[in-house]
Amino acid sequence: MLTTPMLHPWLHPWLHSRRPSVHTEPEFHDHHSWWGPTVTQPQTGPRRSAGELLPHPLTGQPFPSPVPPGTGWPGDPARPRTPRANDVRDVVRLSGSSRDIATLDARVSVCRACPRLVAWREHVAVTKRRAFADEPYWGRPVTGFGDADARVVVVGLAPAANGGNRTGRVFTGDRSGDWIFAALHRAGFANQATSVSAGDGLQLKDIRVAAPVRCAPPDNKPLPEERDTCAPWLDQELELMPEVRVMVALGGFAWDAALAAARRAGWQVPRPKPRFGHGAEATLHRQDGGTVVLLGCFHVSQQNTFTGRLTEQMLDDVLLRARSLAVSPR
Ligand code: SF4
Repeated sequence: MLTTPMLHPWLHPWLHSRRPSVHTEPEFHDHHSWWGPTVTQPQTGPRRSAGELLPHPLTGQPFPSPVPPGTGWPGDPARPRTPRANDVRDVVRLSGSSRDIATLDARVSVCRACPRLVAWREHVAVTKRRAFADEPYWGRPVTGFGDADARVVVVGLAPAANGGNRTGRVFTGDRSGDWIFAALHRAGFANQATSVSAGDGLQLKDIRVAAPVRCAPPDNKPLPEERDTCAPWLDQELELMPEVRVMVALGGFAWDAALAAARRAGWQVPRPKPRFGHGAEATLHRQDGGTVVLLGCFHVSQQNTFTGRLTEQMLDDVLLRARSLAVSPR
């Protein structure tokens, strides 16, 4: 029996402090990732093993957690042999050589370039939140979702550990997703108001939702180096979407990420740097002469929606403004 926590050297100290309330001592098990190294991690939820097969909540097909690529998960863009990034140089190379959104999504979905985030997403996938203990967890990076030819891109922060990291689709399976997809439906961008699970029939039109960081971070706080490592995926996504005319940034992190992506793409960004605020607007000039308007919107986090800092009307107003800008003559 282990009496001293033995963690992989790249696991962050939060793992030491995140002791389970239901266990008086941390438990450890060898987590054999289906393609990565063996990692020793504490288990904070119900005892589960990575190889345990659980039925997908919609299709009933059994999956281990994390889900191996190309095994039938609804919406999985990857195949078993999709090339994967193991470090930042791989991310630059594989993103830059992606010639369409489908290829980019496939490569994003198998990325392993950030050791701390890979450890966290897979740790959560195995231990699970108690309410989802009988579900398989995606446990992989979450790609952008929606119309590849969209004129509007919504930029968020990062997947939630028990939301997108569980369902495999951005903003899907948590309260934030309830808010954003209901609003997208009201604004005419989505064919349905709910988003509970990949494979539920949700389709977006003329809008795509993406995150600057594609893996669930501990405490929803990616490190600066993780943000920077993941940035080429968003850069290439924007490169592959020449019709984009509006970016909606959900929160200050997304606002800064969108401005940084614009600068890396060679777009003209106003100086001094435009400040984030709900309803803020900044006009960015693409190299091809087109313009993209960046709109600020408070994030749809429960912290904002529960407290009334962000209301449905405020969110609707931003999305209607986005639609108006997207269809207006250049
Ligand atoms: S955060 Fe981005 S770069 Fe890092 S492992 Fe996830 S997908 Fe890869």
